[in-house]
Amino acid sequence: MIEHQRTRRQSAHLGPSHPLAEVASRHCDHLAFRLGGVACGVCWERAIRDDERVVVEHGLSREVEPDPEFVDEIAVELACRGQRVVLTPVETRAAVVRLRSRQLLPDAIARRLHLSYAAVAALLGSDSVPACRRAA
Ligand SMILES: [Zn+2]
Repeated sequence: MIEHQRTRRQSAHLGPSHPLAEVASRHCDHLAFRLGGVACGVCWERAIRDDERVVVEHGLSREVEPDPEFVDEIAVELACRGQRVVLTPVETRAAVVRLRSRQLLPDAIARRLHLSYAAVAALLGSDSVPACRRAA
């Protein structure tokens, strides 16, 4: 669910960067004063209570652990276009595989992703590295 630790700490800062801002904004079609320019107090409360209810009903953790297998597809695509993007190991592998599927050779993939040839070769495995480039 949503980061409740952050919700609690930032409760004095209800605004567009709040994790529930989008939800509160969708609820609110009131003409009342909008806290943080997002939603009225009633709609903020509804969003926060609904989120809390889901956490309790499903026994979810309030601490959100980042998923190490999560792939940010936008970051991967930007990297594949040659932009310098910080990628996780899983995203780096996804970018390498994506460029290889576009018929790029390991040298070109390394240049495109600003990686070493050895790093790309390791991710692709020895089958896709030309014999002349394999380490003896
Ligand atoms: Zn409202």
